[in-house]
Amino acid sequence: MSFKRFLGAVGILFAVLHFSCSKEKAGHSDAMDHASDEWSYAGETSPEHWAELEKNSDCLGKRQSPVNIIDLNVVEKAGDTAHNTLFYSPKTILTRVRNNGHTIQFDFDRGDSICSRDVHYDLVQIHFHTPSEHTVNGIRYPIEIHLVHQSKEKDRFMVLAIFGIEGRESETLERLESFLPLKEGEEKVINKALDLTTIFPNNKDYYSYSGSLTTPPCTENVDWIIFKEPSILSLEEVIRMRDNMPLRNFRNEQDLNDRVVSLYRNPHGFPRN
Ligand SMILES: [Zn+2]
Repeated sequence: MSFKRFLGAVGILFAVLHFSCSKEKAGHSDAMDHASDEWSYAGETSPEHWAELEKNSDCLGKRQSPVNIIDLNVVEKAGDTAHNTLFYSPKTILTRVRNNGHTIQFDFDRGDSICSRDVHYDLVQIHFHTPSEHTVNGIRYPIEIHLVHQSKEKDRFMVLAIFGIEGRESETLERLESFLPLKEGEEKVINKALDLTTIFPNNKDYYSYSGSLTTPPCTENVDWIIFKEPSILSLEEVIRMRDNMPLRNFRNEQDLNDRVVSLYRNPHGFPRN
């Protein structure tokens, strides 16, 4: 069964069974945009200075992101214990794209969502980092895509992270980048359907840990899902995205402290393509 058909079937099942996850409109929040624009990725406002710049932030906290994931230390879990189910639809509306001076961000209307332990999280935006923020066994990928989901109460985030490696073109990236270039501060209104289901890697095994936003105020209210297998996109796609963002817009590795990274293999809620 194709990924889309599977998602359709899962969607119907969802509608019939009325899981605890509500499909009510969550509304949009700019919670991630409230941080001051003082910070940057270079010079005197670079990540080492974020805590001074943002006095009330969590940037010096003990549960920060990103982290280096070391396969030797991850705890493997069976897929059916993850309690995460993805509900993505090809009809979800991409409302606008903007260059906010830190990244290229695509905003979405309600439609795509994830259910985790009976909590419903709506996809609000996706954005990019070049090179990647998370590293695996010390290896940094050329690009990392963050799909940011927010709970209805707006107090929790679930971010799906997808690494990219260079190979053949990605249809989804071509579509997203057709709205570029954008100068700093510039935005474009789009309001067209965009199918994000094809952006995921074939293998849905993922790492999971509890951390923070990787930009000020570095709030420690993020559950991370990081796909182990990278998605394939072209070198040109990586370069085009990189050239629209600040050079090396990633935060350095943070201490794991007492946290554990789990690895979920063959997760049921993330159907294979
Ligand atoms: Zn990010």
